[in-house]
Amino acid sequence: MPARTDHAVVVGASMGGLVAARVLSEVFDRVTIVERDVLDDSANPRRGVPQGRHAHGLLARGREVLEEFFPGLTEELVGRGAGRIDLQAQFRWINGGRQMHRADTGLVGLGVSRPLLESRVRARVRALPNVTLLDGCDATGLTATADSSRVTGLRVLRRTDDDGADEVLDADLVVDASGRGSRGPQWLESLGYPAPQVEQVQIGLAYASRSYRRDPHGPAGAAVGATIANRRGGVILSQEGDRWIVSIGGILGDAAPLDHEGFTAFAATLPSPAIHEVIRDAEPLTDAVRFRYPASSRRRYERMSRFPAGYLAFGDSICSFNPTYGQGMTVAALEGTVLRTCLADGTADLGRRFFRGAARIVDIPWDISVGADLRFPDVEGQRTAKARMVNRYLERVHRAAETDPSVGRAFLRVVNMIDRPERLMAPRTALRVLRGSRRPAHQRFGVSWVARRLIVGAAAPAD
Ligand SMILES: Cc1cc2nc3c(=O)[nH]c(=O)nc-3n(C[C@H](O)[C@H](O)[C@H](O)COP(=O)(O)OP(=O)(O)OC[C@H]3O[C@@H](n4cnc5c(N)ncnc54)[C@H](O)[C@@H]3O)c2cc1C
Repeated sequence: MPARTDHAVVVGASMGGLVAARVLSEVFDRVTIVERDVLDDSANPRRGVPQGRHAHGLLARGREVLEEFFPGLTEELVGRGAGRIDLQAQFRWINGGRQMHRADTGLVGLGVSRPLLESRVRARVRALPNVTLLDGCDATGLTATADSSRVTGLRVLRRTDDDGADEVLDADLVVDASGRGSRGPQWLESLGYPAPQVEQVQIGLAYASRSYRRDPHGPAGAAVGATIANRRGGVILSQEGDRWIVSIGGILGDAAPLDHEGFTAFAATLPSPAIHEVIRDAEPLTDAVRFRYPASSRRRYERMSRFPAGYLAFGDSICSFNPTYGQGMTVAALEGTVLRTCLADGTADLGRRFFRGAARIVDIPWDISVGADLRFPDVEGQRTAKARMVNRYLERVHRAAETDPSVGRAFLRVVNMIDRPERLMAPRTALRVLRGSRRPAHQRFGVSWVARRLIVGAAAPAD
């Protein structure tokens, strides 16, 4: 067991901050979570998490990790009306305009709203005896030792205070889980450190989302991916309360209208009718709401040569992914496992060790989402030979998955972060992909051999 330390403070009580607090509670005597929003026990969308009004899929790996941190969470959510969904048998995937063949995979997804998921995780964290949640409280900056080598606390402003006076929460460790709009980089600069380098891919995503009454005989969910020819996409997910949530949109500013006719007509223009077929006769339960997501953004904390002790960033404040791929909550959960492993070796040099581990977690989903976005010629960014090759290979994966469920399963295991991407290139799967995508022999050889060399990074024998 690592030595216990006194007080950790976490900024943000969304999924990232809650997971971080859960892990820190194992090592610190006291953990305080500071959250700007006033929180109650309800499972309603809230201001600080506007994405809660939109479709939120939890990847299979994310569910598994959350279950490790919060045993029984899946059953608890199912007990509150969430659906347990086999991600291949009960879900329609349309990628590259092709519908994946359906079959049992054992990959479990949840038909649950983001507010319900977050509220149950929050209740679990709140029940931990050494965790306190200070809501209605704004984090405004850090305090540090005179030489700024160590962060010593967090400046906070309680929104409920009439005088609005600043106070300081002394802490051995401050974890910034305040999301993609984090002011952590500015806080570091004010202590004399450089801000982390930022990588961005402008995608200009414009989502519109609306809830409908769910027909119990209707689908558990469907995802329609954008194609090069038709850059619109969307998702329909079942949720507790016999609802479907539908999020549809386009890239580079192509936004779905919010009015009933416009929203429905936009759904009919997606690369597959799968969503439109469901909603055209369904009863809307809410108006449509919009979310604009300008860019995927990754802060490279692991590349900083100087960093104060006693401070970490976590979750979306490190990396915010294009939400189309549903990766953020799973990455936050996996960063929790990295933090737990790092803390098992104590808090010395924690920043360097944690950011390295977190970067290894972020690398794969970042490559997947950014690589997919760079398929579109007018999305700006560096297109590596590897990314181009992977995208060509994935087109064949989608073609093969139309008829071969084992290819679909291999694909879903990768995008659900259960398997590493190399598994999709394993000889047996690659052979099925090539057979299923029915390409001439000379192209089969070229793609599989080159792609495997590029992805696995090692000389792989030709099939
Ligand atoms: C439209 C959209 C759809 C998405 N869909 C999915 C999906 O399908 N699947 C998935 O896994 N992920 C999805 N995500 C990402 C997912 O929501 C995040 O990855 C996840 O919430 C973890 O983020 P976080 O906790 O680090 O930050 P956030 O969720 O952004 O939370 C930050 C928290 O910090 C609080 N806060 C901010 N500043 C301060 C401050 N100064 N003081 C105190 N508190 C502060 C906020 O109120 C908030 O509670 C989506 C994101 C968007 C934008």
